[in-house]
Amino acid sequence: GNLKMKRVKRPELRLHGQKVRLKKKPVILAVSVLVLIVLLVSVSVHAASKKHTQKVSAGVAEETAAAVEETTVAEEKLSEEETTTAEEETTLPEVQTTTAAAPQTDGEGEYPGCKKVYLTFDDGPSPNTTRILDILDQYGVKATFFTICSPGEENEESLKRIVSSGNTLAIHSVSHEYSQVYASIDSFKEDVLDMQQWLYEQTGVTTWFYRFPGGSSNKVANCDISDCINFLNEQGFVYFDWNVSSGDASAKCVDKDTIVQNVLSEIGSREEYVVLMHDAGAKTTTVEALPEIIEYLQANDYMILPITANTKPVQHRHS
Ligand code: ZN
Repeated sequence: GNLKMKRVKRPELRLHGQKVRLKKKPVILAVSVLVLIVLLVSVSVHAASKKHTQKVSAGVAEETAAAVEETTVAEEKLSEEETTTAEEETTLPEVQTTTAAAPQTDGEGEYPGCKKVYLTFDDGPSPNTTRILDILDQYGVKATFFTICSPGEENEESLKRIVSSGNTLAIHSVSHEYSQVYASIDSFKEDVLDMQQWLYEQTGVTTWFYRFPGGSSNKVANCDISDCINFLNEQGFVYFDWNVSSGDASAKCVDKDTIVQNVLSEIGSREEYVVLMHDAGAKTTTVEALPEIIEYLQANDYMILPITANTKPVQHRHS
């Protein structure tokens, strides 16, 4: 019924007989100022991470921008330093020197408990690399490319694009000729370091990921693979074999459906799969098989990832 709220009259104060109306109680005023300060502080703290920037005063926004700028400058300085060091080292006669520090791995792997698939492409770059990069972009996934030395404008563009698109650039060898790469431990060392250097010259990136031509369990090496592995470990390289083979290397041109079937039949409930594929010029059916493979993996909740320093390596032998 008649529960109309009565307007509460503000308190009146008489000063020298004159009516003085207080706008606010002093206590309320103090509390509001305090709340405002707390609010401002908390907003400025969260300004960088949350999208409150619009509400934040211009001063705070400027501060944040300045901080971001500082970080960028610091990063640029760091990479400049690395570049300078690298250039200095290349002038040394010793081939043993490396262009940047090897990444530290904890060996524990990344995304524990998740099903992870690392798509890897060997023997490129070739015109197929461009097509594969397009497909990876289209599906929003990244892969790893174990490359050989194949100069040429398009190939060199592909190497740069591998890096700029967030895929992983890795070493396979200079020539892939077993008789040359594995002629002796010295030729092996030279091959690895020369390829690392060539990729650095093409892309400005020093890669520490390696795959043996024929894998670490190959029977074609003239030198002792244990020596090769020891050398890689000492230098800080991490080598990757595979636990899924697409079979696309077994003939000149394996049927597309066979490649899809080979890959999907080997992928199950393990936590980590490293899939061996090839992006050499002749491997056109691998390119054709790729969309189906990615679609299956995405539909079945596999993470498709590029190899990083945190990836647990799959290795056929350890020394
Ligand atoms: Zn190969």
